[in-house]
Amino acid sequence: MKLRIGIHGLTSCYGCQLRMASVKELLEVAENFEIAYWYMASSKGEISHVDIAFVEGSVSTAKEEEELKKIRENADVLVAVGSCAIYGGVQGMLFGEEYEEIFKEVYGGNKIEFEGRIGEPLKKYVKVDYNLPGCPPEEEEIIYYLATFAIGSYPEEKDYPVCTECRRKGYPCVLIEKNEPCLGPLTVAGCDARCPGYNVACIGCRGPLPHGIAWFDSLAKTFKEKGMSKEYIKARMEIFGKQYEKMDEMIEKVFEDED
Ligand code: SF4
Ligand code: SF4
Ligand code: SF4
Repeated sequence: MKLRIGIHGLTSCYGCQLRMASVKELLEVAENFEIAYWYMASSKGEISHVDIAFVEGSVSTAKEEEELKKIRENADVLVAVGSCAIYGGVQGMLFGEEYEEIFKEVYGGNKIEFEGRIGEPLKKYVKVDYNLPGCPPEEEEIIYYLATFAIGSYPEEKDYPVCTECRRKGYPCVLIEKNEPCLGPLTVAGCDARCPGYNVACIGCRGPLPHGIAWFDSLAKTFKEKGMSKEYIKARMEIFGKQYEKMDEMIEKVFEDED
């Protein structure tokens, strides 16, 4: 029997859905599934029961919170797809007053129809069974997740950093050789160290390592020793890691003697 799947998009750039839609073997892979719902590829229908729901994007309105809860109620397995869904994404980096300030800058005193919020990860609102990281995920990762589900198994999430792939590829280390603020040591692998491969420091787009092993403090210490300021380090680490538990605390600890 074919598995029924749904593909959903909340606040996002739709890049993850686009990547799913552009998988080369899509038609071949799709034969194994019944696609009950795909917001990007068809008009929006009523959410109904699926075996697996793939959800891209962060929650940034009350309506999205409601939609996500409905998706969860109707799915046996829920997969958070991409950095927005797993960590809130770039729209998750502003909190409190910062958010209010940016809101005013964009909308001035105008009223908007929906109640905007900071972009938050799915796990804040519902149980997430699996994370499919990336911004967007790599094609082979999408195939791997779909294929494991199709054979009745479950995907194994990566728990090692971009540095592992970078070393395996033999790229020169931009952190050591050029003193650049590479976030590879705390970013989950899967992109084959794409940016260091072009001699560019990783900005952490795939999100921090899972299971609490993204050591922002030890990397912040290394950056500090290389002469980078606390503000600079925080600004860089916050782009994709702001909502990682204890990120702020870990960075503050490194600079506590100076405050
Ligand atoms: S994770 Fe990246 S590619 Fe996917 S929706 Fe968010 S910003 Fe776009
Ligand atoms: S360049 Fe970046 S990803 Fe590569 S080994 Fe150095 S710190 Fe790690
Ligand atoms: S920013 Fe980092 S995680 Fe993202 S593609 Fe580049 S090397 Fe990979």
